[in-house]
Amino acid sequence: MDLKSFIRDIPDFPKPGIVFRDITTLLRDSQGLRYTIDTLKDKCDRLSPDYVVGMESRGFLFGVPLAYQLGCGFIPVRKPGKLPGQVIAAQYQLEYGSDRLEMHIDAMPPGSRVLIVDDLIATGGTAAATAQLVQEAQCHLVGFAFIIELKALGGRNQLPDVPIVTLIDYD
Ligand code: IMP
Repeated sequence: MDLKSFIRDIPDFPKPGIVFRDITTLLRDSQGLRYTIDTLKDKCDRLSPDYVVGMESRGFLFGVPLAYQLGCGFIPVRKPGKLPGQVIAAQYQLEYGSDRLEMHIDAMPPGSRVLIVDDLIATGGTAAATAQLVQEAQCHLVGFAFIIELKALGGRNQLPDVPIVTLIDYD
């Protein structure tokens, strides 16, 4: 299946000069959605994760069904101030300024095998910050999975040396 054909390009979003890769047109297609989750499941099975960690908010959309298919639990990583329990936090750089991601301190038992899932990797900052949280929780990062990789931004170079599963890429 040509998954790329389900992605809609929106020019000048969220600001002029950026082409936003819109995954809502993939999510709404029943066959595209099923194929996406089934293919991710096939590619991630060998990593044998105990938990899928997904980042707010599009990481939730793919992370939960993937965790279900893999027979894992799902852990949300959220923007600051959203999680009700005690959290650990990781700071990361944006083009202008910085942002923070949080995860519950007791989200996973130390030593758990963790797969990090998001819809898209661009500069890699979001995924690298999430990897820091997994490390701080003393868990074992077994890999990353993204629907889309924007290769020109070199995000994978920011990530620890573990397998990276991607389904669609753009140069
Ligand atoms: P990074 O931290 O630069 O790798 O950016 C990745 C994060 O930004 C992910 O959580 C994505 O959801 C979001 N993102 C950046 N660009 C796009 C896009 O073109 N489409 C969808 N999400 C994007």
